[in-house]
Amino acid sequence: MVNNVGLKKIEFDGYTIEGYSRAAVQTCWRIPELKLGFDLGAQPWEFMGTPVWFVSHMHLDHCAALPVYVARRRMMKMDPPVIYLPKKSVDPFYAILKLFSSLDRGRLPVELIGIEPGEEIELSRELVVTTAKAFHTVPAMSFLVWDRRKKLRPEFADLPGDQLRNLKMQGTEISREVRMPLVGYLGDSSPRGLDENPDMYLARILITEMTFLSPDHRKEIIHKNGHMHLDDYVERADRFQNEIIVAGHLSTRYNRKQAIRFVERAFPDWMNNRLNLFV
Ligand SMILES: [Zn+2]
Ligand SMILES: [Zn+2]
Repeated sequence: MVNNVGLKKIEFDGYTIEGYSRAAVQTCWRIPELKLGFDLGAQPWEFMGTPVWFVSHMHLDHCAALPVYVARRRMMKMDPPVIYLPKKSVDPFYAILKLFSSLDRGRLPVELIGIEPGEEIELSRELVVTTAKAFHTVPAMSFLVWDRRKKLRPEFADLPGDQLRNLKMQGTEISREVRMPLVGYLGDSSPRGLDENPDMYLARILITEMTFLSPDHRKEIIHKNGHMHLDDYVERADRFQNEIIVAGHLSTRYNRKQAIRFVERAFPDWMNNRLNLFV
C-alpha cells in the first residue's frame, strides 16, 4: 500500500476511525465500516475505496483533494463517488472540475450533492446523516451519523410470532423507529458547534477539532475565528457522554510532544481514557 499521508488509526467496537488533520495543512477522516468519510483536504491512497464523503466547509485544507479523489476513482474504474458539500459550492466545484478535465484531458465523473444545515440524508436503511450549523469564518456544517433500527412497539412485545405476522399483514405498524447517534463530526467550529447541537455530546464516537492548546492563547479571538481551545473541553468536561473522542486539527505551532504535554496537564486521565489526540 502506498503511504502518501501520515494517517493515524484507532479501533473502537468494530469501527476504525482513520484520519489526518492539522489546521491549515490537511484534514480527512473516514470510517471504512460505514463506507463514508469527512472532508477531502487530503486523499490518502487507501481512502479511495470509500465511496461517500461529507465536506464540512470549503477551506482548501478541507476540500482541495476532491478532484484528485474523483480522478483516482475513475482511473481505477470504480463507480463515481457521491460527495455532499455546502449547497453554494456545488456549481463552482463542477466548474473547477471541468477546468481540471480540460487540463488533464480526463473525465471527472462525480455526483456532487448540495446540503445545508438542518437536513437529513438517508444513506441506507440503517444509516441516516443529519447536518447542523457549525460556527466558522465561512459557512460550515457538522454531521451526525445515526444508527437506525426498527424496534417492536412495547404493546406487541409479548405476542407470538404468527400473531405479529398477521397484524403486520393487516397493515398494523408493529414496530417503531429508534435512532442512536453513532458518529458526530465537527470540522472547524467554535464551541457553539457542540453546544447548539447537543446530540454531538451523545454520539458514541465524536470526531472533533481542538485547534489550540496553549493556556496563553486568547479564547475570544479563537472563538471569533471559528475554532476551539483545549480549555473549551475542560469547561464542558461533564457534558461529553461519548464513548470515544478523537480530537485533531491541531495548530502547526505545536509538535507532538508539546501537544501531548498540554492535554495531559488538562486531562491527566485523558477524559477517563476516552480522549485520543490525532497528532
Ligand atoms: Zn481547518
Ligand atoms: Zn476552516
